[in-house]
Amino acid sequence: MPQPKSKFRRIIIKLSGEALRNPENGDPIDLAILNRICKELKAVHALGIEIGLVIGGGNISRGLSAQRNDGIARTTGDYMGMLATVINGMALMDSLERMGIETRLQSAISMSKVAESFIVRRAIRHLERKRLVIFAAGTGSPYFSTDTTAALRASEINAEILMKATNVDGIYDKDPAKYKEAKKYDKLSFIEAIKQRLCIMDSTAFSLCMDNHLPILVFNLNQTGNIKKAVMGKKIGTLVHEP
Ligand code: UDP
Repeated sequence: MPQPKSKFRRIIIKLSGEALRNPENGDPIDLAILNRICKELKAVHALGIEIGLVIGGGNISRGLSAQRNDGIARTTGDYMGMLATVINGMALMDSLERMGIETRLQSAISMSKVAESFIVRRAIRHLERKRLVIFAAGTGSPYFSTDTTAALRASEINAEILMKATNVDGIYDKDPAKYKEAKKYDKLSFIEAIKQRLCIMDSTAFSLCMDNHLPILVFNLNQTGNIKKAVMGKKIGTLVHEP
C-alpha cells in the first residue's frame, strides 16, 4: 500500500532529556518510555523522511542546576550536561537500531569509542542514505542549550522545520499549569515569541531560527502518534514562523 505523503523531506526533532524520565520513580532513562518514543520515530522514518534528532540532557545533568546545588562551576556543569546528552543519545541509538532503523550517533565532543564526531557533510550523507542521525553533546560549547543546538543543526543540514517535542501541547501566553485562562497560540511570529520572552525555548534558539528562516513547531510528545501527525502537516501544537 502506498505510504501517505509527508509534508517535509528533512526535519530536525528536538527531544528534551526529561522526555526519557519516568515521572513516577524518577529513573532518568525509562526503558518503556524510550521504546515508545523510538516506535513513534520508526513510524515517521517509515514515511521516508530524513530525520535528525537532537537530544537534551536535563534528565541527568544541567549546567545551571549543578552550579546552584553543588557549587560546580558553570562551564564544568555545562560539559557534564553535554556528556549527559551523549548517554541519552546512546540509549536512543540502541533502541532505534533494535527496531531496525539504521542510526548514527554524532557527538560535538570527540569520543571516538562511542560516537562519530560531528561532521556536517557526513551527517547529510547519512540522512540521504535514510539513516537517522542523533546529534549529541550539544554545540560542544558551554553556555548554550540543546534547543540552540537543534536550531544550529537544522540550519546546517538544511532541514525544513525544527520540531520541538515537549510535554505541553504548544505555546501559551501564560503558564497553563498555573493559569486556567492561559491561551494557546496556533501560530506565532518569531518577533512575538522573542518579545514575550516565552520560556518554551531560549532566545538564542528563537533568533537563530528567525535569522535562518526556519519554522519551529512545538507540540506534545506525550500523546501517542503526535510526531507522525506533526510531519503529516496536521494541525497540532504551535507554529512559530515568519508570517
Ligand atoms: N549544554 C551546553 N552547551 C550546549 C548544549 C547543552 O553547555 O550546546 C549543557 C547545558 O548545561 C544544558 C545541558 O547541557 O543545561 C543539558 O542540555 P539542555 O538543558 O538543553 O537539555 P534538555 O533541557 O533539553 O533536556
